[in-house]
Amino acid sequence: FVIPVASAVDLVVVIVGNGAVGKSSMIQRYCRGTFTREYKKTIGVDFLERQIQCEGEDVRLMLWDTAGQEEFDAITKAYYRGAQACVLAFSSTDRSSFEAIHSWKVKVEDECGEIPTVLVQNKIDLVDQCVIDPKEAELLSRALGAKLIKTSVKEDINVNAVFWYLATQCLAEL
Ligand code: GDP
Repeated sequence: FVIPVASAVDLVVVIVGNGAVGKSSMIQRYCRGTFTREYKKTIGVDFLERQIQCEGEDVRLMLWDTAGQEEFDAITKAYYRGAQACVLAFSSTDRSSFEAIHSWKVKVEDECGEIPTVLVQNKIDLVDQCVIDPKEAELLSRALGAKLIKTSVKEDINVNAVFWYLATQCLAEL
C-alpha cells in the first residue's frame, strides 16, 4: 500500500505593470514582511517564495520580480512562460500605469494563455494623490474579467488577500 504524503502545490505567479507601481515592494512585503521607501530600479531578476496553507493544501507561491526590466520585452517574456497566475498592477497615483493594464494583460496572455488573474490598484494610502475614479477601476476589472483588489503595500493592506485569492483560484482549477 501507499502511505499518503502531503505534497505542496507549487504556483508560479508573475506580477506585471508599469515601472514604480510597487511590484517589487509587493513581493518583498509578501515574502519578507518588509517595506522600503527607496525606489531601486534593479536590473536582474529576483525570485522569492512563500508557503501558505490554503484550503487544506500546502501551497508554495513562487514570485518572479522582473521589476526594472519593463522595457526589455524579450527578457521578461521568458519569465511569463510557465506562470500559473498573474497580478496586473497599477498605481492609484499614475494614470499611465492604469492605461497600460490592457497591454500587460495581452503580453501575459500571449505567453501563458488564460490564467487566474487579479487586478491590483496599489498605493491607496496616497488618498490625496489618487487620479483613478473608483468607477473606472471597477469597469476595467469587469472588462478584464479579473477581480479588483485595492492595496497599500506600504500600510500592508490587502497584500495577503491578492495571493490568497490567486491560490484559491488555482486550486479550484486543479
Ligand atoms: P516597481 O518598479 O513596480 O517594482 O515599484 P517599486 O516596488 O520599486 O516601488 C516604487 C516606489 O513606490 C518605491 O519608492 C516604493 O517605496 C513605493 N511604494 C510601493 N508601494 C507603495 C504603497 O502602497 N504606498 C506608497 N505610498 N508607496 C509605495
